[in-house]
Formats: sequence, C-alpha cells, structure tokens
Amino acid sequence: MDKRIAELVCKLEETHHLIEDEYCELIQNRTNESAELLAQRAVAVREPIYGKTVFTRGLIEVSNICKNDCTYCGIRRSNHNVERYRLEPDVIVSCAREGYKLGFRTIVLQGGEDAFFSDDVLGGIVARIKESCPDTAVTLSMGERSRQSYQNLFDAGANRYLLRHETANKGHYGLLHPKEMSWERRMQCLRDLRDIGYQVGTGFMVGSPHQTVTHLAQEMRFVEEFKPDMCGIGPFIPHHDTPFANEPAGTLELTCYLLSIIRLIYPPVLLPATTALGTIDPRGREKGMLAGANVVMPNLSPVAVRKQYELYDNKICTGEESAQCRGCLGLRMNLIGYELAVDRGDIRL
Ligand code: SAH
Repeated sequence: MDKRIAELVCKLEETHHLIEDEYCELIQNRTNESAELLAQRAVAVREPIYGKTVFTRGLIEVSNICKNDCTYCGIRRSNHNVERYRLEPDVIVSCAREGYKLGFRTIVLQGGEDAFFSDDVLGGIVARIKESCPDTAVTLSMGERSRQSYQNLFDAGANRYLLRHETANKGHYGLLHPKEMSWERRMQCLRDLRDIGYQVGTGFMVGSPHQTVTHLAQEMRFVEEFKPDMCGIGPFIPHHDTPFANEPAGTLELTCYLLSIIRLIYPPVLLPATTALGTIDPRGREKGMLAGANVVMPNLSPVAVRKQYELYDNKICTGEESAQCRGCLGLRMNLIGYELAVDRGDIRL
C-alpha cells in the first residue's frame, strides 16, 4: 500500500476533513488496496452507529411527467418516446399502505416536476399517508419548488426531502442541464429545505459526462460543509433517448470508493446503495453495503408503470411486485450478514 494514501485515509478518519488537493490524490491514485482499506474503515466507523442493520425506504414513482429537460435523464421533457403516466392520489395512498404492511416505515414519493402535484394535491396525499401509516416518515423527492411550497408540504406532514444537487460545481452543472436551470437555485432549495426543518438528502451521479477528479474532490468538500442527512450517489447510466446516449456509464468501483470516503467524512450520514448501483452490477447493492452504505430504497410503484419511470437504460426491478422486491433484498442482505430493519431509519446523530 502506498504510504501516502494510507496517511490520507488515516487523516480523513481522524479529522473528517481533507483539502481539495488531498481528495484529488486519494481518488486519482486509488488502487484495489486503497479501496479495501477505505471500505474496511468505513464499515468499522458505521458499525457502532448502525451495526449491520439496513434501513429501507419504499419508493413510489408518482409521475414521469416533467417540465425539465435535464440532459442525462430519460424522462426529460424533450424525450417524446416515453409513455407518460401519473398515479392517482388513491393509488399512491394504497401503494403506501401496502408498503406499510410489508414493513416499510419510510415512504418516498418521487417524480418529475409535474404541475398536477400542487401543494394542495401533494399535501393531501402526504396527510393521508401520515394518517393511515402510523410511525411512518414521508419523504418527498419532487424537484425544485418555492420555499412557500416546501413549507406548505412540511406543514402537511412531510418529514424529509431528497433533492440531489447533481454536481457541486456550477460550471459542470451547466454542462448537464439546459440553460434555464440554475445551480444557484438548486442550492437555494437545499438551504430552504433545511431551514424549514426537513431532514435533507442530496447527492450526485458518479461518472456523469464531463465530470473530473477535481469535481469529485469538490463533491467531498461539499459533503463536509453541508453535512446532508442523506447522500444519494449512484453511477450515471446512459439512456438511449438522451443526448448522452453514447457516453460511458460510471463504475461500480469508483462509486463504492466514494461511498467509503463519504462515510468517513460524516459517519452518521444515511448512505443508500442505489438502484443504479444494482443496475450496473448484479451484486452492486451488496457491494455498496460492504463499502459503507446503510440504506436501500426498493420500488413500491405499481408494476404496470414501472418500466415507464425509466431514468436510464436497463433499470432493475421493473417486473416484480413490491413484496417480491422487499423479499429479494432481504435475502440479498442476509447473505452478506446484514438485516433489513422495520424502522423509520432516522439519522443517528
Ligand atoms: N425530479 C426529481 C427526481 C429526479 S429522479 C428531482 O429533480 O429531484 C432522481 C435522480 O435520478 C436524479 O436526481 C438523478 O441524480 C438520477 N438520475 C437521473 N438520470 C440518471 C441517469 N441517466 N443515470 C443515473 N442516475 C440518473
């Protein structure tokens, strides 16, 4: 093992901080050995906080209708080959109830930026889920909204919000999004959400087009500074009907490496082993756990619409019923010595 890399890992574990150049070094000069060392330290740091317990979130993909045109995303506005759908409020509430029966105590409502989901409509759904599923946290992941809207949804009972910043570098953001979208606005949303009192999840794609090692070092600095309750990272995977169709996907190896670093930066952080990670490798989510992740987010959407929420190609778990998904993940976790919890899965500060 390179002595310098071992020193950096040690410094990171002790101080939870490196400067940008040091992150660059740690990422640029990575080897199998440094990955193993980081994973081992990440699991050791996670152990006293979360043990081998895996938190679950039941994800309901409420709509693939979106007013935005993010260049990487399969459900972007200008993709006319998508069959668009939106779930009726009654269907969403019944998916949530089914999730509750299966043992989920966090329900995530995710979707495109679809104007149908006004504060009244979405707030109404949140309130109904809170009413019919005791001790359950509701997470929203419905994109950018005004501060007042976030406040209204919080008042309706939403507990958490997931909004990936996508990249911590403003110039890079501009290369991934159309010009009407703004990095500053995205960051402002995150600050608003935190101010209001939400538990906030953010995150970025690994290996997105034009991403450099310096950008990744800046991601690590962003985690140090913002300290999100959750940080969702997964590999970029090209979608055939987007301008990035021919770009290479991010890798399992780099994603796991960064998961370990993030665990060491902020030990209590909630770190999902994402569906995208499970898509690029059949044991991707297991490998994510072994690198320091502690959350999985299986799908609770009705099977009839699952293939239509296609953010990227070959997305897994589009054919199974919710119960099968939870069962399959439970088994996968047991095989590596982990156990799915029936728990809201709040951050343990
Ligand atoms: N409209 C919501 C939800 C977006 S979908 C919002 O804006 O937050 C959730 C996440 O999927 C995105 O934040 C993005 O990071 C990820 N995603 C989108 N397209 C992807 C792709 N091609 N490969 C990997 N991840 C992708």
